[in-house]
Amino acid sequence: MRLTFLGGCREVGKNALLLEVNDRRILLDYGVKLQPEPAEFPEVVKDVDVVFPTHAHLDHAGAIPVLFHHSTPAVITTKVTIELMELLLKDFVKVMKRKGMEPRFSKENVIQVIKASHSLPYDVPVFLHGTKFVLHDSGHIPGSAYVEIVRDGKRIVYTGDIKLKSQRLVNGAKLTKEKVDVLITECTYGDKDHPERRKEEKRLKEEIDVTINQGEVVLIPSFAVARAQELLLVLKDYRSYIAVDGMAKEATEILLRNPSFLLAPKELRKVYGSVKRVRNQRERKRILKRKPIVISTSGMLNGGPVLYYLKRIRNRRESLLAFVGFQVEGTPGRSVLETGIYRNEETWEVNCRIRKFDFSSHAGRNELFELIERLEPSLVVCIHGDRCEEFAKEVEERYGITAFAPKEGEELKL
Ligand SMILES: [Zn+2]
Repeated sequence: MRLTFLGGCREVGKNALLLEVNDRRILLDYGVKLQPEPAEFPEVVKDVDVVFPTHAHLDHAGAIPVLFHHSTPAVITTKVTIELMELLLKDFVKVMKRKGMEPRFSKENVIQVIKASHSLPYDVPVFLHGTKFVLHDSGHIPGSAYVEIVRDGKRIVYTGDIKLKSQRLVNGAKLTKEKVDVLITECTYGDKDHPERRKEEKRLKEEIDVTINQGEVVLIPSFAVARAQELLLVLKDYRSYIAVDGMAKEATEILLRNPSFLLAPKELRKVYGSVKRVRNQRERKRILKRKPIVISTSGMLNGGPVLYYLKRIRNRRESLLAFVGFQVEGTPGRSVLETGIYRNEETWEVNCRIRKFDFSSHAGRNELFELIERLEPSLVVCIHGDRCEEFAKEVEERYGITAFAPKEGEELKL
């Protein structure tokens, strides 16, 4: 059995691992690196038999349609991931075209992916040529999974993106009780712990109260999948003040059709049923007078209706721009956060209040250590982080086990 690390090595983005067993080729994730633009794809892999996307985020699943230029692999993942992938991949094609980039795949390729997809429930094993694969709940977003692989008595776990602590939208990861030999883990926050979630929620609500009590507007740029719905649950008592715009609407509707992947589906349905869903430009123009809290895509201000609202409020000094997601280096969101200047195809100042809140759905540093302590691996492979090497070194020193951060293209024989 041989593993090749094709992406997500010492960086966040384009996660892709190739597992070769005898003459079978299996991919664990096949994602893109979206930022900075243009998007970067992992190396082309031909003759793939099976792909396991751990979840629908494009940095894990965004390159899968490219595989269909060369082969027709089976795509095995959870049911809600299939539906979310369809939404995000089709949008990705649209965005690439709109920005004048040559799309690496077409809408037809996305349809091929969906047709080749098989849903697999959590904790149910599937056997491929004598190797056992199991998807377990990884607690990152609805439908997200970590992959457990067992062959010749050896157990390998690949985390995908993982979170141990529960959020309002999903429970924390359900870890296997079995001892693991090799742990391939994300380490996005290997150097940082998150502030306590309840305190962040309180801080956000206080800022919102101050703003709307003055008759001003709160704009929350949000990722469509998971973050927008987490926010709806956090802000459930404000639901009569909230408008939702952009792809967050479709994503919420997909999640509500898959309630078994949610921690509080009834609550989400109730909140979503009472917020205003903005459907067109005419409604958009009028909404700020009636709904002072707007949750809209895109989360890093790359595009989407959020820009319309930001232009409307940018010179209202008491209005609030509330970031609730990580702003990647090189994005307009990062620029606004650090300098107060929007830089993209056009450049302008943002003079309203700007605040940042941590609602991360990745494990913080201490959760990563807890993961290692509970799975007791003898080898830890650190990927999907800006400081993978430092984190691997810390793991070695702390636990006296082998840990390393592979370079792109590096192989591991198992
Ligand atoms: Zn993710």
